[in-house]
Amino acid sequence: MSNILHTPDPAALRLGTMLPEPFVVVERNEETADTFTLTLCPAGEGAARSFEPGQFNMLYAFGTGESAISISGSPEKTEGLVHTIRRVGTVTSALDRLVLGDVVGVRGPFGSPWPMNEARGRDLVFVSGGIGLAPLRPAILHALAHREDYGRIVILAGARSAPDVIYHEQLHSWMEESGVEVKLTVDQAGSGWHHHVGVVTTLIPRARFDSSNAIAMVCGPEIMMRFTAMELARAGLSDDQIFVTLERNMKCAVGICGHCQFGPGFICRDGPVFRFDRIRHWFSQREI
Ligand SMILES: Cc1cc2nc3c(=O)[nH]c(=O)nc-3n(C[C@H](O)[C@H](O)[C@H](O)COP(=O)(O)OP(=O)(O)OC[C@H]3O[C@@H](n4cnc5c(N)ncnc54)[C@H](O)[C@@H]3O)c2cc1C
Repeated sequence: MSNILHTPDPAALRLGTMLPEPFVVVERNEETADTFTLTLCPAGEGAARSFEPGQFNMLYAFGTGESAISISGSPEKTEGLVHTIRRVGTVTSALDRLVLGDVVGVRGPFGSPWPMNEARGRDLVFVSGGIGLAPLRPAILHALAHREDYGRIVILAGARSAPDVIYHEQLHSWMEESGVEVKLTVDQAGSGWHHHVGVVTTLIPRARFDSSNAIAMVCGPEIMMRFTAMELARAGLSDDQIFVTLERNMKCAVGICGHCQFGPGFICRDGPVFRFDRIRHWFSQREI
């Protein structure tokens, strides 16, 4: 399975040193009960960082440790790094305790991007589960900022329940954009929910896109991505039109330590964004 490997960009590796640089929390928003968004700016004379949609940073909560967190802001706006984080354990809980003015260490950006160039002139289908919308948001914002470069934009977002939907207001503002179709679904609907109910894959047959000329970008739990790839195939997309982003426990983020090994590759160096045909074999294996 040597085709899993793309050649890492040496410049990107040089940029991503092992030394975290200090960034200050300049904005904080609560997304859901366990998910929050931090905007970080370089402390002192530090330089702003540009990134490509799909890339991630290592965020270091001083005295606690580091976590890989995708960049979820607009790639057009480099003045602040935006990260949406779900509190699951030690490091993310420490990041959750940060308030305005606190300092966090940043290494990055790392990793492979969503295929925004390859997708030019084609319809874009974004499919997310839960916080999976966060790593997709830079790609959506890029496509909206370069509307003339892309065909229809379809955004299909699923969550467990209405209070678990992140970027709620922004999703509704995207619904107003011409040529953009946004469909939301939850597993369990409460009163006042006016969108769909059911798993996100059920939205795929209802969406309008040209499957012969579309690129799909998918992010969510692995089981969700597996069923989404199957449903996209039923809709007419081939595996080389589908891109997914993978997560594994990550330490160095520069392809040295091996914590995030996936088949013959490393997610930090060869991913996290993969074309589905290149990982299909490994994706279906347990414990990989
Ligand atoms: C490339 C990449 C991008 C990511 N982007 C985001 C993001 O944008 N927002 C976000 O909230 N999280 C993101 N994550 C996941 C995030 O890195 C982990 O949730 C975080 O490192 C957990 O650290 P912790 O110390 O809080 O939890 P721990 O105390 O280490 O673990 C708590 C629980 O979470 C599990 N866990 C730990 N790391 C992961 C992981 N990577 N995937 C699945 N389960 C894990 C552990 O097994 C354990 O059950 C990303 C991960 C990767 C690899």
